[in-house]
Amino acid sequence: MKKIAKSLLLGATALVAVSCCQKEPEVKNIIFMIGDGMGLAQTSATALINDWEPLNMERADYIGLQKTYSANNRVTDSAASGTALATGHKTYNSAIGVDVDKNPVANTRELAQAAGYATGVVATYSVTNATPAAFVAHVESRYLEDKIAEQFVEADIDLFIGGGTRFFKERRDGKDLTEDLKAEGYTVAYDMAELEGVTEGKVAALLAPNAMPTIGQGRSKDYLPGATAKALEVLSNNSKKGFFVMIEGSQIDGGGHDNNMVKIYEETVDFDNAVKVAFDFADEHPGTLVVVTADHETGGLSIVSGKSDFTLPEQGVKYEFGTTGHSAIMLPVYAYGTGAEEFAGVMENTDIAKKMQKLLGLIEE
Ligand code: MG
Ligand code: ZN
Repeated sequence: MKKIAKSLLLGATALVAVSCCQKEPEVKNIIFMIGDGMGLAQTSATALINDWEPLNMERADYIGLQKTYSANNRVTDSAASGTALATGHKTYNSAIGVDVDKNPVANTRELAQAAGYATGVVATYSVTNATPAAFVAHVESRYLEDKIAEQFVEADIDLFIGGGTRFFKERRDGKDLTEDLKAEGYTVAYDMAELEGVTEGKVAALLAPNAMPTIGQGRSKDYLPGATAKALEVLSNNSKKGFFVMIEGSQIDGGGHDNNMVKIYEETVDFDNAVKVAFDFADEHPGTLVVVTADHETGGLSIVSGKSDFTLPEQGVKYEFGTTGHSAIMLPVYAYGTGAEEFAGVMENTDIAKKMQKLLGLIEE
């Protein structure tokens, strides 16, 4: 796998050499935020429950819609959609960073890294889970999480924060990958408090065996906004050129699968609080683009009229779910900051990756 990672990076370097650039690209930093399972019904319901107090993501300068279908299914999973958003290639459900022929395809984070940007991923599920994995790894199945963890070590990524300790330390092969990370100069942390005072360098924070707790199970409301702020700080300090980071609100999806509106609401609010941190950073750092979207909708949620014994404090609406799986509905794309205008209109999920790669000067216009 090391060979594949290397050849991808060589390919990326060649691309950069061909395309790069008489002038520096206008976009210096990209903060790519993915609410897993967050469709328009999820954001609408969250705003409605808040008495239509606007969500932070509603500060977006430009709004688009994206189509999520995968190469082998009209309803995507998080692996195929993550791969599309990361690489610009549609692939089959359960694929991570490989195309329909199972060949590895480079992702925006790798291309950015090869061009000298600092890069990272942040999640509220395991970092080896499908969405963040699509920005780091290349495996034919999302379920190969031990292997995905090895590729995190090989990737030499600046920063990752999320769950997933068991894939690094309690592995079937008995290896302890955190030793490899330490040998490569990483600060390895098991609690966000251990990152206080860490303002640069390589960071690996593994905060739960697999998924982190949900907000309902007691995950701190400070975690995702705080991890976002920490990532922006460390990545800003790690490269003068700029950075690319993917930040995932991973557990909105679980609320959809459980048909649990309370969980969807709490996880969407949490994600939206991280969006505020990113938008505020963009206000203070010209040249920063923030794109907020999802990988697919989960639950087939609809908000209909009717009396409800539902426990959230609003009246007169009822939340109905069409499925315990994902749905094929188009998703909102909220764009803010430098280059945001590129994300207006209707697009494929793969276009989002390509637009980001163009804006960072990683591929040809
Ligand atoms: Mg996910
Ligand atoms: Zn799901």
